[in-house]
Amino acid sequence: MTDCLFCKIIAGDIPSNNVYEDEQLYVFKDIDPKAQVHILVIPKIHIASLDDVTTEHQDLVATMMLKLPELARLQGLSDGFRTIINTGPGGGQEVGHLHMHILGGEDLPGFK
Ligand code: AMP
Ligand code: ZN
Repeated sequence: MTDCLFCKIIAGDIPSNNVYEDEQLYVFKDIDPKAQVHILVIPKIHIASLDDVTTEHQDLVATMMLKLPELARLQGLSDGFRTIINTGPGGGQEVGHLHMHILGGEDLPGFK
């Protein structure tokens, strides 16, 4: 039994607001949105962070990146979006399962 929050979400043990799913990826709404649209894109296999990505994962990471524009459009973000990947405590990562944030919409906060 994993104690990873996002693995539990993928398994359906913790509810989520799923917006897209395929063989490799699970995508759901952030529980505490920082913008009008805020979704999280995660791989179905457990990878703790970008620090744990190896060449073994290069196709998967490329698949995630290439999917982002389509996922943004599915959320109605027709003129662009922001992508964030936090890595480790120094990067503000709170959940130890690799995830890409997609943010957008009219209340997108400034970025400094
Ligand atoms: P990070 O700080 O990059 O690790 O981002 C973790 C994100 O996960 C935060 O934006 C949280 O709001 C979000 N989050 C935490 N728990 C849940 C949950 N149960 N369902 C959806 N999003 C969550
Ligand atoms: Zn996990």
